Amino acid sequence: MSFQYTFEDREEVIQLQLAWANVIKGLTPKVPKAHLDKFLKPLSPKTIHGEVVHLNSPGPFVSEWVKSKYLGLLESGLSDELGQIVRLEFHNIGREISPVKFEDVGKLSSTTRPQLESSFRPNAKYKFENFVVGQQNRMAVAGAKAASLGPESKVNPLFIYGKSGLGKTHLLHAIAHEMVAREPGIRIDYVTAQAFAEQFVLALQSGKIDAFRRLQRNVDVWLVDDIQFIAGKDKTQEELFHTFNTLQQSGKQIILCSDRPPMELFLMDERLRSRFESGLVVDIQEPDTETRAAILLTKASQDDLDLPMEVAILLADAVRGNVRVLEGALTKLAVMASLEGGVITLEMAEQMVEKYYQSSVSAKPRFEQILSAVSRYYKISRDQILSESRQAPIVHARHVAVYVMRKMTGDSWNHLGSLFNKDHTSMMHAYQKIGEKMLCDRDLEATVNSLIREIRPH
Ligand code: ADP
Ligand code: MG
Repeated sequence: MSFQYTFEDREEVIQLQLAWANVIKGLTPKVPKAHLDKFLKPLSPKTIHGEVVHLNSPGPFVSEWVKSKYLGLLESGLSDELGQIVRLEFHNIGREISPVKFEDVGKLSSTTRPQLESSFRPNAKYKFENFVVGQQNRMAVAGAKAASLGPESKVNPLFIYGKSGLGKTHLLHAIAHEMVAREPGIRIDYVTAQAFAEQFVLALQSGKIDAFRRLQRNVDVWLVDDIQFIAGKDKTQEELFHTFNTLQQSGKQIILCSDRPPMELFLMDERLRSRFESGLVVDIQEPDTETRAAILLTKASQDDLDLPMEVAILLADAVRGNVRVLEGALTKLAVMASLEGGVITLEMAEQMVEKYYQSSVSAKPRFEQILSAVSRYYKISRDQILSESRQAPIVHARHVAVYVMRKMTGDSWNHLGSLFNKDHTSMMHAYQKIGEKMLCDRDLEATVNSLIREIRPH
């Protein structure tokens, strides 16, 4: 590293630059060459004011990266050289032509450790910021965030379980993103238990078991998805157990996902199960309606779709099943909208629900059940509720029936209209009216809630 000095340079700046050069020289044997060339050498100290040393940096990526990895070393080294405590301030002067991408960083680290390269690239959509947190996944997210800090977090291994389509794989990818952001050179291996089993069998067949083991074990972080797949496969279990042990003993971070708790994995070896349970075990349950609606809105904005709130709530309510199914409904709706001028409307969503998701309605309380509960409560017959009568008590009972029906089934206005023999606008009107009345009438609110409790199955 060479500097050109002029007489205008003040002495302290010259001193600073010499000190900096010494710090970099001192770091050279300790830092991968690629890091040195790409990140450290492009920095140059400009001035010193009091205890602040101003550094020019080619851009924000380099600055952030250096701060996350080398700030401590640089500051203490420079303080030693200058004989006074200093801290660094980075100034991005914009010579960073394009931000260094994750891929490039991957390449960088692979040049320093070529044989150890892991090819895992987390899906850009699966980040923590795109993951909606609700009551049912709160613990899993907290666990995943803690585990993403690495082995120091003590959440190791982390075991996440839950039914299919509830976000386990998403969380594994989110952990990987987080770790790479913190430490770009980190070696992360993501493997599904199925792929592990297949690679293992292949390695056995081709006599490359040593290479297989080396590859599996040369990682800093081991993410294993769908671990339930190994249940009943004794040889694979044994191999996985050895990998697990090796990694755990060398303090590597391990995160496992499964569709069932460790207790229910049929493992040949008790030891394996207790190892799985030795860190933190968290579960994910199906999200509630509000969380489902929030997930839909998040996905929609991610895909630049204009999803009205009322449509999100309708889908969240009417489309049962896991989050993947819910996403499928959104995609379907987006396709329908694109065929009809590009705008998603409530009517369109109702049609779609009616056409594709009616089967899920059958699991909900039935129309007759709701009618008879309302009829019993108000002492008004079923037929009167369904009649054309405009008498106030009958109209009120009818409106309550509509409200409860809609609330509990999420059925479309059109569908409700056909059940009550009215058009869809009078259904919306009835629903709105009761909703408004409930706001200032505590008795009505209590009545509706107790009707819902009475009708709800279980
Ligand atoms: P699993 O691995 O549990 O079967 P995935 O991680 O593949 O489930 O999730 C299925 C889909 O649902 C993914 O597209 C994922 O992004 C989405 N998803 C699940 N839960 C959430 C959530 N809480 N917020 C946002 N998206 C979610
Ligand atoms: Mg999965």
